[in-house]
Amino acid sequence: MNWIKKVLRIGEKIKKVLKERPSKEDIANSEWTSCCTGPILKKDLENNLWVCSSCGKHHRISCRQRFDVFFGKNNYEILKTPIPQEDPLDWEDSKKYIDRLRDARKKTNQECAVMIVRGQVNGINITAGAINFDFIGGSIGCAEGEAIIYGIQHAIDNQNPFVFFPCGGGQRMHESPIALAQMTRTTLAVNELKKNNLPYLVCFTDPTAGGITASFAMLGDIAIAEPNSLIAFAGRRVIQATVKEDLPENFQRSEYVQECGFVDLIIQRKDLQEKIGSLLSILLKKNSDIISEISNEITENTEPIRKEAS
Ligand SMILES: [Zn+2]
Repeated sequence: MNWIKKVLRIGEKIKKVLKERPSKEDIANSEWTSCCTGPILKKDLENNLWVCSSCGKHHRISCRQRFDVFFGKNNYEILKTPIPQEDPLDWEDSKKYIDRLRDARKKTNQECAVMIVRGQVNGINITAGAINFDFIGGSIGCAEGEAIIYGIQHAIDNQNPFVFFPCGGGQRMHESPIALAQMTRTTLAVNELKKNNLPYLVCFTDPTAGGITASFAMLGDIAIAEPNSLIAFAGRRVIQATVKEDLPENFQRSEYVQECGFVDLIIQRKDLQEKIGSLLSILLKKNSDIISEISNEITENTEPIRKEAS
């Protein structure tokens, strides 16, 4: 066999292997996924709130799954957010943007990447939002900006605290400057929330990056994160090439970001409802049990101040 035939045969083999690999759709529709120990049934993972019981990895979840975890299964109401004019720049790269939107809607059963809901935790009415990474990488375009502003307005109108679970790569390039403008718009909306003295809690999930980190996500009164979530602006490789230094293993992960002071608390997914509920009770002075518990603790641990006779 001459070398040309050998190369052709190897090429055929590679083609065969590539053909046999499952497509993204096959993986999504399969009952199985994988983690540290190999294949794992999605059902088993779901029963553990999509957290691996062996390594503790917090797997990425959709908005509905997120709210099921936070409020309890279907224990919330999805709010319809406004959808502005689609594809204002008539964008086309390897695929038309309008087609990408259509595919993302079909895949996620959401109108845009951001979902806004209202529900209750600890007897407190909460307006909450989350981003679905499966909707064009969780990127923020005009519809997503509108949804966040709608959520904040809903919180102000109802005097609710606003809890947000960001996840995504940043601003959506298909909408270019219009997407960038959402950074300013959402920041101004958060300021309105603060003017109304309403708590704004952010819980970073894996991965949160780019314009999301650089705008509304970093403005929470308390910055919470799920364990080992990527929280970044620019990517690791870009930073390494710029500073020309070796970066630590856990660079830009929740634990590292907490050490640097950008994250206040790291909370396991199973504890999110309870801990965020307690934080909101304290901030709003609403749940009398928790408040009296805290004031008891304070009185027990504080020496009475004696007035000295003058
Ligand atoms: Zn694992």
